[in-house]
Amino acid sequence: MTYSKSKAPLYPKSHLLAASGVAALLSLALLVFPSREVEAKKTFLDLRLETTSALASSEEELFLNESLDTPFAVIEKTELQASLPVQGTTEDEAEAKPRVKEVVVANGDTLSTVFAKVGLPQSTVHDVLASSKEAKQLARLKVGQRLEFEFDEQGNLAQLRSPLNKLESVQLERSDAGYVFKKEQLKPDVSTAYAYGRIESSLFLAAKHAGLSHNLTMDLANVFGYDIDFAMDIRKGDSFEVVYEEKTVAGEKVGTGNILAARFTNRGKSYTAVRYTNKQGTSSYYTADGQSMRKAFIRTPVDFARISSRFSNGRKHPILNKIRAHKGVDYAAPRGTPIKSAGDGKVLLAGRKGGYGNTVVIQHGNRYRTLYAHMQGFAKGVRSGSSVKQGQIIGYIGTTGLSTGPHLHYEFQVDGVHVDPLGLKLPMADPIAKNEKQRFVQLSKPLMARMDEERATMLAMQNTQ
Ligand SMILES: [Zn+2]
Repeated sequence: MTYSKSKAPLYPKSHLLAASGVAALLSLALLVFPSREVEAKKTFLDLRLETTSALASSEEELFLNESLDTPFAVIEKTELQASLPVQGTTEDEAEAKPRVKEVVVANGDTLSTVFAKVGLPQSTVHDVLASSKEAKQLARLKVGQRLEFEFDEQGNLAQLRSPLNKLESVQLERSDAGYVFKKEQLKPDVSTAYAYGRIESSLFLAAKHAGLSHNLTMDLANVFGYDIDFAMDIRKGDSFEVVYEEKTVAGEKVGTGNILAARFTNRGKSYTAVRYTNKQGTSSYYTADGQSMRKAFIRTPVDFARISSRFSNGRKHPILNKIRAHKGVDYAAPRGTPIKSAGDGKVLLAGRKGGYGNTVVIQHGNRYRTLYAHMQGFAKGVRSGSSVKQGQIIGYIGTTGLSTGPHLHYEFQVDGVHVDPLGLKLPMADPIAKNEKQRFVQLSKPLMARMDEERATMLAMQNTQ
């Protein structure tokens, strides 16, 4: 290959980091840090316990508040009932029947049992479920779920409403044509929140103390994942700051959105990140001065693998029994383990290639090329000429071609020359485009300033305590 003096961008355009494999690995790394695995496991368990007990207590509350006088958790609250004179004096039974009933799903409940509790016959259950494909969602009941029934004067089901969570609810309404199913989605208000954490034992615990959800913690680790090895590099005294989106409905927190800006101080060195959506609508994280957080390549194309052979310029080939250079790195992993594209690029080959067996070759920009050999098979949609994103699964570990066992043989070329991928200084992805720099700075500056202010205020308060 000859050197081309093209002025085309060296690296593919930035895309929103979407390496779910990386996330999985980070998740693992977060859980097994600190080094004592036992402690980490305990933490995980504790977390789960807390989650379930929190759930339990909220259920208890529901029962306490609403179902004291009924063993079946049937709550009858109607305006009719409230306005009724003294019960028993009315002859007219129909009028005394409540028009609204509420049931909280208990252990072992099905739609049939719940309907029975409010006095609805099995035939109504059938009518409801048969009304539409979507209505079958109603049969998926969760313990603690609330169902609000509304009846007509004859005591038939007129409407059923059930909140699934704070933002979603399902609704069934009877019309002349039968039951109509609807899913309602509330639009939350989005504001920004700030959190600061200092690591004592693990990022996981510190983030929890700072009030960050598991998802936000994972996002934080992903944002800095190219610069900080969360399994190896984290030290006591490291700290982080995050400005993130907080979703509320009627003043009540219902969830979080994206991290807008963050700062991570690891062993005395500070890293910054700002989320920016470019004019094409692609979101990515950049340093405060507009450099990409992302590298053009990920270091390892297989998670959960062991290096079984390194790059060398001369070694004995196990099958050919000759001294041969090993122009790549071998990763041993179980058959079927996913292999990820090291960077964005174009597939030059996805097919058989002699001793390499099933092989994928990817061209990244003008200068870089990666090769993945001995694959068991290719991922869907990966064929010669197709485009791939960084972290996208391209195939699976196998042992096709000249190979002694399941492994990935991985090669990296720069300008047509094989280099050791483990020794390579990885290039960065594209920085902010020149014509977007001003817009980026307008966004980035106030976010960084906010973190500075919040942090100063918080530290000042700590000092006066
Ligand atoms: Zn090899």
